[in-house]
Amino acid sequence: MVDLIANQRAFFNTNETKETDFRIKQLKKLKTILKQNEDKLNTAIYEDFGKSEYETYLSELLLTYQELNDFIKKIKSWSKKKRVRTNLANFPAKSYIIPEPLGVTLVIGAWNYPIQLSLVPAITALAAGNTVVLKPSELPNKTAAVLAEIINSNFSKEYFCVVEGGIPETTALLKQKFDKIFFTGSSTVGKIVYKAAAEHLTPVTLELGGKNPTFVFADCNLKVTAQRIVWAKYLNAGQTCVAPDYILVEKSIEDAFLSEVKKEIDTRYKLTDDIKDNYLRIINEKNFDRLTAFIQPEKVYCGGITNKKNRFISPTVLTNVSFDDEIMKDEIFGPILPVIPFENLDAMIQKVKENPKPLSCYVYTKNRKVVSKLLNEISFGGGAINESIMHLTNSKLPFGGVGFSGIGSYHGEAGFRTFSHYKSILDKPFWLEPSLKYTPYTLKKLNLFKFLFE
Ligand code: NAD
Repeated sequence: MVDLIANQRAFFNTNETKETDFRIKQLKKLKTILKQNEDKLNTAIYEDFGKSEYETYLSELLLTYQELNDFIKKIKSWSKKKRVRTNLANFPAKSYIIPEPLGVTLVIGAWNYPIQLSLVPAITALAAGNTVVLKPSELPNKTAAVLAEIINSNFSKEYFCVVEGGIPETTALLKQKFDKIFFTGSSTVGKIVYKAAAEHLTPVTLELGGKNPTFVFADCNLKVTAQRIVWAKYLNAGQTCVAPDYILVEKSIEDAFLSEVKKEIDTRYKLTDDIKDNYLRIINEKNFDRLTAFIQPEKVYCGGITNKKNRFISPTVLTNVSFDDEIMKDEIFGPILPVIPFENLDAMIQKVKENPKPLSCYVYTKNRKVVSKLLNEISFGGGAINESIMHLTNSKLPFGGVGFSGIGSYHGEAGFRTFSHYKSILDKPFWLEPSLKYTPYTLKKLNLFKFLFE
C-alpha cells in the first residue's frame, strides 16, 4: 500500500499527467477497454445481484460513456488558464487562474451502481490530471474483480490502480496521505473517511445518502406521475441513493394515486419468470433482513412478497405510515415505498426539515408557486420537478448532496473542478513601481489612496 502510493506520487511528479494529450489518450484507451469487456461486466453484475444487460447499460455504462465522451471533448478547454481582470492597485499586471491537478487521489465506490459509481469519479480524476487508486465496493465482488482485472492489466499501477477489499483494506488506504479522497457511500462511513482525511488535511468529496421526499399534488398528471415514480423507485430494486424514499401525497388524491401506482407496478413488474430480467435482487442477506423487517402486513397496500433464498422483495407500497414508524427513521434503500397523505403543506415541510438535509427532493405539480415555495424552503442536494432521478443524467448539473447527504459535487465540469486546484496568479512586469505602498506613510499618500480606492 505504502509503495503503491509512493510510486503514484513519483509518477505524478514526472508531470506526464499534466499533458492534456496524455489524459485524452488514457481516457480513449479506457473507453476501448470497457467496450471490449462489456460482456464480462454484464455477466459479473448479473451474478452479483441480478442486474440485466439492459439495466446495466442504462444505469451504469451509458452514464460512464457519456462522462468519458464529455471529458475527451472538453479536457483541453477546461484545463486552459483563464484570464480575469486586474484591480487598480496592481496596475500594470495580468491576472489569471490556472487549473492544476491535485495529485494522488483515492476513489472509494459504493455497491449499488458498482461500475458507474467507481468509474465516473475515477475518470473525472484522471481527466483533471491526477493519478487514481480506486477501491470499489466489495459487496458485488464479481463486478469488483472484473474492474480490477481489466484496469490493472491495462494501466500501469503508478497511474491508475484498483485495490480490491473491504473494511481492512479501506482502513489501510485511509491511513495513507492522498491529495484528494472521493467517497460514495453511507453517512456513517462518510464520517470515518472525513476523520481519516483530516489527519492529513486531505480535501474530500463525500457523496452520501438520505431520505428523499417526493411531493405529489392534486393537480399533477396522475398517470404520468405514477409512471415516473414507480420507475425511479423500483429501478435497481430501490437500491438507489436518489430514489424517491417516501411519498407525501395530497389527501384528496391519495386513493387515486395509490391505485395508479399499483396499476403501474402490475404492468411493469409481472411476477413471472421474466422478472429475473427486469428486476434486481437485494444485494445481501443483511440488507434483505433489514428491509423485510419494515414490511408490516397490515400496512401493505400492494406487493410485500419476499423470498430469502434469492433475496427477492417485490415492489411494495405501504400506507397508514406515520413519521414515527421505523421505516421513516433512516434511508430505506430498497423496493418499499411508504405513502403519507397530507392536508397542510407547511406542516409537511416542517416535518421534512426536522430530518437531515436530503440528497434529492421531487415535486409533482403544475403549480409553479408551489414549486417555488418548496425549492425556496427545503434544502437538498438536487432534484427534479415532475420527474425523479433523471436530473443526474444531465452532466451540466453538478451532482452532490448538502449537509448530511454530502460535501461537494461532480459530473461534467463540476467534477473537473472537484479534482482540480485553481491556482491564482498575479503577473507583473518590472517597468513601473509606484511608491504608494512604501514608507514613508505620509498624509498626502493616504489621501491619494482614499481618493483612488474609496
Ligand atoms: P458503505 O458506506 O457501507 O460503503 C461504501 C464504501 O466504504 C465501500 O467501498 C466499503 O468497502 C467502504 N467501507 C465500509 N465500511 C467501512 C469502514 N468502516 N471503514 C472504511 N471503509 C468502509 O455504503 P454502501 O452500502 O456501499 O452504499 C450505500 C450508501 O451509499 C447509501 O447510504 C446510499 O445512499 C449511498 N450512496 C450515495 C450515492 C451518492 O452519489 N450520493 C450513490 C450511491 C450510494
